[in-house]
Amino acid sequence: MQFTDLGLKAELLRAISEQGYDTPTPIQQKAIPAVMAGHDLMASAQTGTGKTAGFTLPILHRLASGPNTRTSKRPRVLVLVPTRELAIQVEESVRTYGKHLPINSLAVFGGVGINPQIASLRRGVDILVATPGRLLDHVQQRTVDLGAIEILVLDEADRMLDMGFIRDIRKIIALLPKQRQNLMFSATFSPDIRELASGLLHQPVSVDVAARNTAAETVTQRVIETNREQKKDLLLHLFETRGWHQVLIFARTKHGADALSRNLDKAGIKSAALHGNKSQGARTRALTDFKEGKLVALVATDIAARGIDIDSLPYVINYEIPNIAEDYVHRIGRTGRAGMEGEAISLVSHDERGFMRDIERLIKRDLERIVVPGFEPSAHAAPRPVQPPRGARKPQQPGRPQGQKTPQKPGGPQQHRSGTRHH
Ligand code: AMP
Repeated sequence: MQFTDLGLKAELLRAISEQGYDTPTPIQQKAIPAVMAGHDLMASAQTGTGKTAGFTLPILHRLASGPNTRTSKRPRVLVLVPTRELAIQVEESVRTYGKHLPINSLAVFGGVGINPQIASLRRGVDILVATPGRLLDHVQQRTVDLGAIEILVLDEADRMLDMGFIRDIRKIIALLPKQRQNLMFSATFSPDIRELASGLLHQPVSVDVAARNTAAETVTQRVIETNREQKKDLLLHLFETRGWHQVLIFARTKHGADALSRNLDKAGIKSAALHGNKSQGARTRALTDFKEGKLVALVATDIAARGIDIDSLPYVINYEIPNIAEDYVHRIGRTGRAGMEGEAISLVSHDERGFMRDIERLIKRDLERIVVPGFEPSAHAAPRPVQPPRGARKPQQPGRPQGQKTPQKPGGPQQHRSGTRHH
């Protein structure tokens, strides 16, 4: 199937071919006709599947088709997203695909001045992409009127719920006209997501592309077993021997990300840390510099990395292994996108082996183990909790007060959500 088979307006096909795309991805093949026909949609899709164009293209098509129902400068489409970065990226997509159409868009998110957003809203916006908190600020200040919304999109709905936005989302939905089209995208389907969907969607078309919690086939996943104390040097060794040029590295804490980025800089590897304590300006700059190749490495925490869209990112390094197995799938989803080859390497110390096993259980795959000479894991694994480096904050262990230890039963499974870190 080609994009030209979908019946999209010529202006959209032109923008698509200018992007160099001719074949719609599986989610686009299914979602575009359903949305064009006016159906509600429930799509199970992760970033990297082409989902953004999957809703952006048919929405632009619908807005540009038929009589222009617009009688005011009020937005006709609302896209709710969990993070600022995703707001920027989705709005960029709207602009990219809509550039030959007289349709305008705006992203509103917190952490930046509200006045320029107010000025843009006043001038008139067709497609509004927003994070829930800032949108409600505008509602309160009466600088946005949601009474003309024809299409609502909840993008990364599971992330929005994880981040505690459910009440904000419900408040926003209550302000929208009852008669509208609803599209919901989520990588996972918890009972909360199902409940939200059943109250929101009317006879939705279901689209389920890559099976949940499976990693893209194009990503080679490897595990390097080593010792915690050797990870810094091992990472530098890998940079030296492999000639990496664009690497996204995951750390577990903000402090850890900062420390690692400093260490890389000291070794002459240009990097920046991306986490929630950075200002919006610093985050956007780091991302731009990384995309433009001015930075070799970006060291990110899980939250900060959500929704990052970097074309053809070749390498993802798990410097520390996430204790929530699903986070691993999200992390490595940054590489091997849209058919490109990618490699994900996890540096696993003794105390993280159980986390890694949980991940392999989730993705239903045993990953290849490699040992790098000179950085082998020591034969006598310390039978004690591994202490974080001096000065480092302890990683948050959900569900248990910090510092509380659970002795592990000999031979028993490791409890990843507990405070137990020994092995
Ligand atoms: P998304 O899942 O929306 O974050 O998109 C992932 C990446 O795939 C983005 O970099 C898009 O620009 C790219 N992309 C979207 N649609 C296509 C397509 N039909 N062919 C090739 N690449 C695409």
